[in-house]
Amino acid sequence: MSLFDPQQRKENPRLRSAMALFRLAQAIKKMSQMESDPVGLSPVQVQTLLFVYHTRRDVASVGNLAKSIGTTHATAVGIVNGLLAKGLVQKQAKQEDRRITLLQLTESGRDVVAKIEDWGKTLQSAMDHLPDEVLDSFEIGLGAIVSSLQKAGHLVVAEPCHGCVHFRPNVAGSDQPHYCQAIKRYLSFAESQKECPEHAPSCDLGQEKRGGSVER
Ligand code: SF4
Repeated sequence: MSLFDPQQRKENPRLRSAMALFRLAQAIKKMSQMESDPVGLSPVQVQTLLFVYHTRRDVASVGNLAKSIGTTHATAVGIVNGLLAKGLVQKQAKQEDRRITLLQLTESGRDVVAKIEDWGKTLQSAMDHLPDEVLDSFEIGLGAIVSSLQKAGHLVVAEPCHGCVHFRPNVAGSDQPHYCQAIKRYLSFAESQKECPEHAPSCDLGQEKRGGSVER
């Protein structure tokens, strides 16, 4: 069976859907390039800046970046080096484990992030005319595919703390009111709102409804 065979596709809805996803991936590649050109960066450099901006600081590592964008550690290092040379990110060894390199945005990096806030808008606007009931089924279907690819190790889905099995909200009265049982530490509200690559959805349906995102 081949999704590239039009005769087989005619008879098989799974092949038709797989082909639609393949075509979407091609369109997304083109649109990402188009939206990255104005800031003089490649799509993967933009993704890296967005990863650093949206990921909790103590897990915004080169290793997690590699998983998030689906590449090797060596390639991620190369991307980071390009951004270091442009003065958009800085790196430092993690205090608890100096083998891990953490990334932060510089002031110039934050300025660029402000300019690319709506990166992905072309794809987003393609969803604008979908009626809500179609969107609901679409989200559940896509979520199931994301979940299946995640279980097979083809992608990482990073999400904020809400909905994670390890999350214990509002257990302390301080400026760090939440607790994570996985990393065994208290979290501020702001930290709990950032993406975490260790997020473990409290139920598969929740994961499917969200449809996932990249570690991001
Ligand atoms: S493991 Fe879950 S609760 Fe812990 S920081 Fe990550 S998302 Fe939050």
